[in-house]
Amino acid sequence: MNITIIGGGLAGASAGYHLIKLGHNVTLYDRQDKGQATFASAGIICPWVSQRRNKKWYRLVTKSAHYYPEFISTLERETGMSTGYKNSGAICLFKENIFDKATKRISAKGIDNPDVGAVRQLSKEELSALHPSITTEYPALIVEGGGQVRGRKLLAALKEAFIHHGGTWKNESYDETTDDGSLKIYTTGAWGAEQTYKPDIAHQRAEIMHFKLKNQQDIQSPVVMALGPTYIVHLEKDEYVIGTTHIDTGSFDTSPTDESYNYLQSELYKYFKKEDVEITEMGVGLKPYTRDFLPFIGYVDDNTFVINGMGSTGLTASPYVGHEVSHLISGLPVGLDFSDYNYIEPQN
Ligand SMILES: Cc1cc2nc3c(=O)[nH]c(=O)nc-3n(C[C@H](O)[C@H](O)[C@H](O)COP(=O)(O)OP(=O)(O)OC[C@H]3O[C@@H](n4cnc5c(N)ncnc54)[C@H](O)[C@@H]3O)c2cc1C
Repeated sequence: MNITIIGGGLAGASAGYHLIKLGHNVTLYDRQDKGQATFASAGIICPWVSQRRNKKWYRLVTKSAHYYPEFISTLERETGMSTGYKNSGAICLFKENIFDKATKRISAKGIDNPDVGAVRQLSKEELSALHPSITTEYPALIVEGGGQVRGRKLLAALKEAFIHHGGTWKNESYDETTDDGSLKIYTTGAWGAEQTYKPDIAHQRAEIMHFKLKNQQDIQSPVVMALGPTYIVHLEKDEYVIGTTHIDTGSFDTSPTDESYNYLQSELYKYFKKEDVEITEMGVGLKPYTRDFLPFIGYVDDNTFVINGMGSTGLTASPYVGHEVSHLISGLPVGLDFSDYNYIEPQN
């Protein structure tokens, strides 16, 4: 089939990569908008800790986490590039009064899912051994199946592999007047708001603070899911990020704000001593959402397919979604129940 993909973030690149490997003729357009969610993200792959109760979302992200190791090892082998993927577990911090309850809740997720790995409470000494500069004030556990990936590195590897397998990647805006009758797949992230068809796409502005840890020892620390929505990711060497803010907005302005800086700085000082850190820069990404915070994945008319609304877990879900969409379009068996994510009657 001739297929045109509009949008070259992780959703589009992953769909393109899987489709080209199934033998389709694929052209991808990416406008490289400032604020691309994939570029800004530093991501956690650990869907089992969230208290979110939406079963459709949970099915999607757990199947996605299961696919990750196989997907990454194939991609890294094909390209010789690093994606920043590390399967070194996720440390979770809690307030004392909910620690045991949270340990039970997360351990229960692993009973019928080996991907979760061991869930183990850490002593202060064990926490310091894994993350030498972090406070030991909060009780901690580790989810050994957790991992992390760097959005921009993963995207670069997918782009390389897509081109290597024969795909055409154009760093330009897609011009709708040049429609050649091919199947269109729209993966335009927050800029999906420009398209006239459903679903409606909204976005949140997410700011993330980059910092260096002084006297960093030569170890790779696992990601930290700290109190509330805060997380800390060790990128490489002495480079870390702490995130993130979530602000609903209609604006596409991507300048960092003082408000987010101050908020993230105060979060940073909760977990590290002031004298141990050096704040280096702020990153801003626009996370796309649909009406119920569930991704939309499906046809909106005979010739138009949409993958959007990946929200806060798009790094986790996009590789598997790309795999499944490529199978659906090719008439191959799928493991995802698409009716969970396609709530619009296609218009002919
Ligand atoms: C700070 C931050 C932290 C995050 N942390 C995590 C995490 O820990 N775990 C996790 O799983 N997820 C995380 N995410 C979420 C994840 O990054 C996103 O869900 C995912 O990257 C969305 O990918 P996308 O391809 O849908 O959108 P995007 O990456 O935004 O890409 C959309 C692309 O479409 C292009 N485009 C738009 N319109 C057009 C057009 N007309 N023609 C051509 N191109 C067009 C844009 O230029 C852009 O490049 C995080 C996101 C942010 C911002």
